[in-house]
Order: sequence, then structure tokens, then C-alpha cells
Amino acid sequence: MTYDKSIFINGTWRDLKETETVYNPATLEPVAKVAYGGKAETEEAIAAALKAFKTWREMTGRERSGILYKAHELMLEDAERLGEILTTEQGKPLKEAIGEVKGAASFLLWYAEEASRTYGEWIPSSARSKRLLVIPQPVGVVGAITPWNFPASMITRKIAPALAAGCTVVLKPAPETPLSAIEIVRILEKAGMPSGVVNLVTGDAEAIGNTMLTSKDVRLITFTGSTEVGKHLMRESADHVKKLSLELGGHAPIIVFDDADIDKAVSLALASKFRNNGQTCICANRVYVHEAVKQTFNQKLTEKVAQLKIGDGLAEGTDLGPLINEQAVQKVQVHLEDAAAKGASIVSGGEKWNGGMAGHFYQPTILSEVTDDMLVMNEETFGPLMPVQTFRDEDVAVAKANDTDYGLAAYIFTETTSRAIRVAEKLEYGIVGVNDVFPAAAEAPFGGIKQSGVGKEGGHHGMDEFLEKKYVTIGMED
Ligand code: ADP
Repeated sequence: MTYDKSIFINGTWRDLKETETVYNPATLEPVAKVAYGGKAETEEAIAAALKAFKTWREMTGRERSGILYKAHELMLEDAERLGEILTTEQGKPLKEAIGEVKGAASFLLWYAEEASRTYGEWIPSSARSKRLLVIPQPVGVVGAITPWNFPASMITRKIAPALAAGCTVVLKPAPETPLSAIEIVRILEKAGMPSGVVNLVTGDAEAIGNTMLTSKDVRLITFTGSTEVGKHLMRESADHVKKLSLELGGHAPIIVFDDADIDKAVSLALASKFRNNGQTCICANRVYVHEAVKQTFNQKLTEKVAQLKIGDGLAEGTDLGPLINEQAVQKVQVHLEDAAAKGASIVSGGEKWNGGMAGHFYQPTILSEVTDDMLVMNEETFGPLMPVQTFRDEDVAVAKANDTDYGLAAYIFTETTSRAIRVAEKLEYGIVGVNDVFPAAAEAPFGGIKQSGVGKEGGHHGMDEFLEKKYVTIGMED
């Protein structure tokens, strides 16, 4: 299958003379060429979305829902092939990729269900002669900008609620992973999405982004990516006072208490850190272990890390695929060298991996003797590097966990219910996992606080982002 025609506007697929190549990060081989769109295509896509909004918003929730159900079905039927495409452009192990595709489909299902449940309110008035109503209505044209680390689920998590609410969409996927985006839009097309409701523009991120920002017709920007780009979008949205839903960076702590089930804690810590090779905004960036269990935890952790298999995500049994690009490898290396220079010990890993493949690989790495001033304890690493520090006092662990500008996800491992609740309440994060490191679910509100973002994705909360609450007040005749 070719992807030359990667721009989808008003129901038509287009190519362009100017193209961009997509590479497999495991082999560095070219996989496909996609069109390199910019301002002109984005303007057209916005115009198409605005036109389609007039009719899409008038359809009933049930009618919109039918198309989303169909898309969900089609995506699940094709999960294996879509998983392979995802691994080829992104690198994650095939099992994870297929899991992501199924997760992506779950957002289509959830919002197919939510589409007909956009209830309003009837507010009892303090004046006898009035009636007060609240009508939820779609925001309008949505600009959706998505990252490369979850090329499928980040798209459906945004566009499924937008579409269910009655909004229309211009989607800009990450340049590293446009193929999953193209496949998803093909599925929506096949499911019967009317022309102009979903539009896709691949190409120049800045030009496409700026065109969305400067258009008064784009009423909401939904974005997942770096805090830096999120801040830029927020600043530039001011002129038209656009609504924003931003899911930005994180620096997740794991706190392992002395009453934790250590075997479970080790497995969960590994799953959190090394899923997608550490390239998730909710993956553990630092681990605090109680001194009483430090030795057992570290020993079991080291044994398990040694068993992880690095390689091509398409190969059977791979646990860790490549990183997305050379800069990602460099970042891990910089964090490692900084930590080592400041006194950290490398317990395992610590080097680039070269198993005869050309791609961007790095060994899963554990650091001990880490101090708070190290880069890895403060900046998002986005790679397979796990620093482990010890603590004695619950309050100190919580204070350290909270000592960051980020506030996306935090995890605690404990078998004591009261401690779980007490600490969960004190952690300044949008998401807290208690003995659970996989918080993302179609039915739950995912999102950060502080510099990790604004707004929620998932659940009925995710739908709210795309609905205005219009207040109607009616004066009654006597
Ligand atoms: P990362 O560092 O993880 O790639 P980015 O924030 O750079 O995160 O990228 C997330 C998404 O934002 C991608 O789709 C990328 O192309 C897009 N992006 C990057 N810069 C801009 C920009 N100036 N305007 C709009 N989108 C942008």
C-alpha cells in the first residue's frame, strides 16, 4: 500500500510534489513517502471542516454514533495489520503496537456510546417567571496535533470525542508517524464519515500549526506533545481566544513503600519505565524506594532488567524496540553522563546497544546513588533510563515527588489502603496509580496539572472539552 496521497481534504486524497520520507527507526530504512503540506492545504482543510460543521452538528448523536461504531469495528478487524504499520514507523514491539491499536479502537467505541448522551440541564430559577436551560453544543472546527509515541491512540482519543460532540476536525499527525494517521482516516472514510468532517494534513508542523493558530475558524486546539510546543500553542491562541486541550510532558515518580509487594512493585516499575522504551509521558522518570526494601527491590529489578530483549519491534519476543531518533539517544546519554559525573552508579546498562541493527537503540539502564540535582531527576528523559533513590520518611518521599513543575502521573506501591488514599490525596498530579501503572482508559479522565497540561481526555470529561454550555434564559408570560 502506498501513502503518497496523504492529504485528505473534503473527502479527497491528494499528493504533492514536495514529499517527506518516513523511516523505520529500527533499520533506518525508508518506509514510505508522504506529502509535505503547509499553509495552503491547511487553509483548505479548515474551510472544508467549517463547511461540514454546519451539517455534521445537525445530525443526531445516534447518527454520528453509528459511524464511530462502524469505525471501531473496522479498526479491530484490522488490528494486526495496523499494529505492523505502527511498529514499522514508530518502533515499539508488535505486541504493544497491536495493544495500542485496540486501545485506539476503544476510544471510538466509548465515544460512539457517549455521542447520544450529551445531556443538558434545566435549572430551577430563583425567579418564578423564568426558565433556565443549559444546552451543550459543539465547539466548532477543531485542530488536532498529535505526537509520534502513540501514533494511533492519541488520534482517536482526540478526534472520537470531537466527532461525537458534533465538531469537525483538521488533523496534523507527527511527521515521524503519519502512516497510522492515514490508516485511521481511511477507516473513518470507509465507515461513512461525510466529506469534510475529518481532514488530514501531513507536512510542515510549524506552517500547519501556525495556520490553525491564526485562523479564527479553528475554535479549539487539542494537542499532545512537549511542554515547549504546548506553551507556544497557548500563547499564539490568545489572539482568537481559542479553547485549548493540552496534554504535555511529565516527570512521573514511583514511590515504593516498605509495605509494598516487592515482586509486584518490580514488575510494575519495569512495565512503567520500559513500555515503549520509556517514550511515554506517563512513564516513570524517577523511583523512590524505602530503605527497608531497597536491597531486595534493586536485586530483583537488576535480575529482571537483564532478561529484557532489545531488537526490532517486529521480531518475536522483543521487549524494547528502538528509540525514535538519534536525538532521543543523545538525550539518554546526556542524562546518564550528567548523573555519572555527579556520583551516580550504573547498576545495569549504560550504553548504546548495537545488535547488528542500524537503528537508534539504547540498553535498559538502572542508576543508583542518584541525587536531586541530576538532570534525570528533573527533566523528562523519554528513554530507558531508571534512576533509583531511597527514602525513609513518607512525607519526604511525597515532598520529593511533588518537587517538579510537571504534574501528569505519579505511582505508589503499597499494600496499605489508608496510606494509598493519604498519599494519593497529597500528590500534586492529574493521575495517581496505586499498584497500577496503566492508567489510560477510554472511560477515565486522563490529563495533567501544572505544566503538564490543561483539560482531560477520556471519559465523559473528554467529551466536555468539545462542548460549549449555552445558557438559555426564558422570561415567561404571567
Ligand atoms: P516531541 O518532542 O515529542 O516530538 P513535539 O511537541 O515537538 O514533541 O511534537 C508533538 C507534535 O507537535 C507533533 O505533531 C509535531 O509535529 C507538532 N509540532 C511541533 N512544533 C510545532 C509547532 N510549532 N506548531 C504546531 N505543531 C508543532
